[in-house]
Amino acid sequence: MGFRITFLGTGGGRHTTMYQVRSTGGMLIEHDGRFLHVDPGPGALTQMHRIRYDLTRTDSVIVSHCHPDHYSDAESVIEGMTRGGWTRRGSLYGSQTVLRGNGRLGPCISDYHQGIVSSVSVFEPGDVLDVDGMRVDICRADHSDPTNVGFRFHTADGIVSYVSDTAYSDEIADQYIGSRVLLLPVTTPTGNRIKYHLCTDDALTFVERVRPELVIFIHLGVVIIRRGPDKEAESVERATGIRTIAAHDLMVLDVGRELKLSDAKTFEGEWIPDSSP
Ligand SMILES: [Zn+2]
Ligand SMILES: [Zn+2]
Repeated sequence: MGFRITFLGTGGGRHTTMYQVRSTGGMLIEHDGRFLHVDPGPGALTQMHRIRYDLTRTDSVIVSHCHPDHYSDAESVIEGMTRGGWTRRGSLYGSQTVLRGNGRLGPCISDYHQGIVSSVSVFEPGDVLDVDGMRVDICRADHSDPTNVGFRFHTADGIVSYVSDTAYSDEIADQYIGSRVLLLPVTTPTGNRIKYHLCTDDALTFVERVRPELVIFIHLGVVIIRRGPDKEAESVERATGIRTIAAHDLMVLDVGRELKLSDAKTFEGEWIPDSSP
């Protein structure tokens, strides 16, 4: 039993990604002994190596949308999930652009990689998925990839929501009311709103509307990283009275009766898992 998120990456946006100021490897979720990788962007593989996570254990992959900070390592993750491409297994979920392509966007997972998993599902807002026994609701987003979505993960101890890249509106925020934990992609700091993303001011309004137990800033762009994400999160906590923190790479959140934060154990040097030939 249990629900654990390891933040393989906490960066987002073009400059954080291209310079790897922070890793952009997405989130590894363990739920009741199953492993789900959400948005394996650049850095996912090296971070899994650092924590000695053998990606042949991954059961499912979700890619929210067709921007490289969310998908670039996904094909290698699929090769891991399928034991090097030799065993048909695992489920792959993605938006229209990710799996089918739409106009100038995508697809960003090759036909070959879509062909080696057990199932491929295109999702859209309003869908309810059963991901290895966990209910996942698909929510609307307002982003430059128009097929992007957000997620509500139903755990035994409440709803954990991952609001993927989006502009703010009350309608977007209201979908997450009832969440216990809110993972917010705060790309820019206060006073620095950019199109199709959240800044700290938007985060404040978002948190006021949803009022979860814990808010975690992720998808940090270079400007908010320079400004100091801890201070930005603190300003939201002060204004709302709701516990708000900025994530750091390889932070771990355990969702049980209590919410526990820790850091993944890391290792240096060469490592070849036993599952390897
Ligand atoms: Zn992004
Ligand atoms: Zn994006």
